[in-house]
Amino acid sequence: MQQVTILGATGSIGVSTLDVLARHPERYSVYALSAHSRVAELAAQCAQFRPARAVVGTAAAAAELSALLKAKGLTTQVEHGEAALCAIASAAEVDTVMAAIVGAAGLAPTLAAARAGKKVLLANKEALVMSGQLFIDAAQQAGAVLLPIDSEHNAIFQCLPADYGRAPQGSGVAKILLTASGGPFLTRAVDTLDAVTPEQACKHPNWAMGRKISVDSATMMNKGLEVIEAHWLFGAPAEQIEVVIHPQSVIHSMVSYVDGSVLAQLGNPDMRTPIAHALAYPERIASGVAQLDLTQIATLQFERPDYARFPCLALAFAALRAGGTAPALLNAANEVAVQAFLDLRIGFRQIDRVIAQVVEALPHGAADSIEAVMAQDALARAAAERLIAGLTR
Ligand code: NDP
Ligand code: MG
Repeated sequence: MQQVTILGATGSIGVSTLDVLARHPERYSVYALSAHSRVAELAAQCAQFRPARAVVGTAAAAAELSALLKAKGLTTQVEHGEAALCAIASAAEVDTVMAAIVGAAGLAPTLAAARAGKKVLLANKEALVMSGQLFIDAAQQAGAVLLPIDSEHNAIFQCLPADYGRAPQGSGVAKILLTASGGPFLTRAVDTLDAVTPEQACKHPNWAMGRKISVDSATMMNKGLEVIEAHWLFGAPAEQIEVVIHPQSVIHSMVSYVDGSVLAQLGNPDMRTPIAHALAYPERIASGVAQLDLTQIATLQFERPDYARFPCLALAFAALRAGGTAPALLNAANEVAVQAFLDLRIGFRQIDRVIAQVVEALPHGAADSIEAVMAQDALARAAAERLIAGLTR
């Protein structure tokens, strides 16, 4: 029986993970769940999955959750704050940690899971983008097993040779082909993009996801973060990673080899497939996702990304090439800009401008400690907030 902690249980990935776990009660038991503020949802999950521990963001949320659980007659221990998140990620009882908090808030607990040598199912790409080599080193030193949940990286993992590790040299791998749907604005006239609403930006054509990653998909910053994520997960330099627009989201990514072979992983766009893959790896379990019917899909299309339409993609490649804390600056500025867009404080096209200005204004340094990374994250957030305060929509 594997004991699982889910960080970010009430989110889109968290809910999909619980759906898969519920199909296999003989294999998995839930040790702990976390949420930030959706307390009622977390209470309902506790009633169904009976975790030993539950963590929320604040003391007030913890009091509210305790009252709800008491009313249901549940004995789940309620805690709050970052130290408690790190504790449920690293507790001796836990085998597997699903890292599905959104954004930089997930870094500390995801790192705690890696440092404790857990099997880490990584959905929280921002944590890896920020901490890069530090995270990979921590996982390696502790013997943690890192399995990608992001559908593209999970696909690449499935298409790479079994003995690949993080060494592209000698593996025969020529390129990593990262597919991208292009999001809701792939064909919209560029000069109308400033007028789009958060609702339009969050209406992804193929995937139902949290709001932050949905906006990232619309700007294609999501793909940019994924390029950096692929660099760290697979040890591939920027030149070896190519983004291919594939609007149907049926091929989840590909690996091309020096002999001309291209291996792809296909499936319906449902995160329960990569979640089930990573949970059971190297075995396979049912996920609840319907089998792919290619005759129904009939057509698969591919095109090159348009960097003028999607400047965030170019900004992310530039941050990867710059190295050090540049990706952390990019990520922090993006988180602030996306939130400002969702709060109707800036327009859609101001997202990339804010990020570009913050990254340009702040010198990046060496990413040689988590403290250094967090300091740069804080600087970039403050700079982005200042910039946004001075903007008019
Ligand atoms: P959601 O916004 O749906 O869920 C986020 C989760 O994190 C919720 O449980 C939320 O709690 C919690 N949370 C939010 N803010 C904080 C905070 N400050 N401290 C602690 N917990 C917090 O996001 P998604 O599930 O869509 O995405 C989660 C991660 O997975 C992201 O990094 C995303 O990039 C990645 N990912 C997601 C995919 C998807 O299909 N959704 C695909 C690939 C990657 P509460 O509910 O209480 O707010
Ligand atoms: Mg993805």
